[in-house]
Amino acid sequence: MSEQLQRMRRVGADIAAKHAGSVDAEARFPHEAFAALKAEKLLGVMVPTELGGAGASISEVVALCHALGQYCGSTAMIFAMHQIQVACLVRHGLQSEWHRAFMRRLTSEQLLLGSATSEAGIGGDVRSSICAMEVQGARFKLSKNATVISYGADSDAIMVTARRTAESPASDQVIVPILKSDYRLEQTSTWDTLGMRGTCSIGYWLHGAGDVAQIMPLPYADISAQTMLPTSHLTWSSLWLGIATDAVARARAFVRAEARRKAGTVPPGALRLAEAVNLLQLMKSNVVAAARQYEAALASPELLTALSFAVAMNNLKTGTSQMAVQVVNHALLICGISGYRNDSDYSVCRHLRDAHSAALMVSNDRILANTANLLLVLKDDPGLFP
Ligand SMILES: Cc1cc2nc3c(=O)[nH]c(=O)nc-3n(C[C@H](O)[C@H](O)[C@H](O)COP(=O)(O)OP(=O)(O)OC[C@H]3O[C@@H](n4cnc5c(N)ncnc54)[C@H](O)[C@@H]3O)c2cc1C
Repeated sequence: MSEQLQRMRRVGADIAAKHAGSVDAEARFPHEAFAALKAEKLLGVMVPTELGGAGASISEVVALCHALGQYCGSTAMIFAMHQIQVACLVRHGLQSEWHRAFMRRLTSEQLLLGSATSEAGIGGDVRSSICAMEVQGARFKLSKNATVISYGADSDAIMVTARRTAESPASDQVIVPILKSDYRLEQTSTWDTLGMRGTCSIGYWLHGAGDVAQIMPLPYADISAQTMLPTSHLTWSSLWLGIATDAVARARAFVRAEARRKAGTVPPGALRLAEAVNLLQLMKSNVVAAARQYEAALASPELLTALSFAVAMNNLKTGTSQMAVQVVNHALLICGISGYRNDSDYSVCRHLRDAHSAALMVSNDRILANTANLLLVLKDDPGLFP
C-alpha cells in the first residue's frame, strides 16, 4: 500500500468514520475530516511535484476516493469533487502562469475547490450555460444562479462555467476558478436530502470577479470531454464502490457472527453474501478497467477523443451507480433488521441513502441518452483485449 493510501486510511478510520454519523444526521460539512486531510496534505496530491504537490496519477486518486468512501460517503464525495477540479487545473493549466501560481497556493495552503456547473434554467445539462462572462479590459465579472454548489460555504475557490460572452451560444462555455475573496454567495435553497447530506449542496447566486488570465485557456467543451467527465465518473464510481465495500464488510461480519452463534450451520445470509461479493467484484473490475483505459487514453489524443472512450466512461457511471444500490441492498437483506437500524454495528442505512444519489448525480437518463446518440455511429467492437 502506498504511503499516501496509508495516510488516507488513517484519516478515514480515525476521523471520517468517527464523525460520519453526526455529519449525516446534522447535514453538516465534515470539518474534522477535512482538517485532517489538509494536515496530511492530501488535497494537492495530484499537483505536479515542481509546484509542491505529489504528482499523483488518476489511479492513485481513484484509490484514495475508494478508501475514503469506506468510512464516510459525504467526505469521500467532497474529496472527489475537489480532485476533479484539481485534475482540470493540472491537465489544462500548466501552460498558464496564473494557474501555475494558483496550484502552488493550492498545495501550500491546502485550498478546497468547489464547482458551479449546474444552473437554474438548464436542468442538469452542464454543457449549457445561461450566465455569461462580462469582460472589461483585463477584468471579468459574472453572476450565476447555481442550483447546487456543494460545500460552497466551505470552499476556498470555486470553478465556475459560463458562456464565453453574452453573445455566445449556450454551449460555447469557459471555466474559471474564482477565489473566495472575489465572490459573494447568496443562498437560494437548503440541503435536507435523503443521502450525501454532508456535501451541503446548497443553491446560491454566485457573484464573482477576477482577472481575465484566470479563465482556463481551453474551451470547456474540451476540458469536460477530456478531463472533467472521465475524472468525475472515475472518482465517483470508486467512492460508490467504497460505500458498497463497507456495506459488504458489515454483512460479512454479520454472517460470521451468525455462524459463530450457531456452530456447525451455514447461516442463510451466506448465500446472498456470496452473491454480493460477486457483484462487488464486477463493480471493482469496472472501475479498475476504466482507470487503466483513461490512463492509456491520456497518452494518446486519438484514444482520448474516440467515441468508444466516451461510451466507456458513460457506461462506467451508469453501471456502477446502479450496482452500488444493488450491492448495498444485498447487504441490507443479509443483515435484516440489524442493517435497517440506524444504531447497530451492522447498519447500512447511511450507505443505502448515499448510494441512491449516484443515479441522479448527473442523471443516468441524460447519460444514457448521450450514449444512445454515440451508438448510432460507433462501430461494433468484437475484440476482447484492447
Ligand atoms: C450529492 C450531489 C452533489 C452535487 N454537487 C454539485 C456541485 O457541487 N456543483 C454542481 O454544479 N452540481 C452539483 N450537483 C448537481 C448534479 O451535478 C446534477 O446537475 C443534478 O443532480 C441534476 O439535477 P436534476 O435531476 O434536477 O436535472 P436533470 O438532469 O435535468 O434531470 C431531471 C429529470 O429529467 C430527466 N432528464 C433530463 N434530461 C434528460 C435527457 N436528455 N434524457 C432523458 N431524461 C432526461 C432525468 O431523468 C430526471 O428525471 C450535485 C448533485 C448531487 C446529487
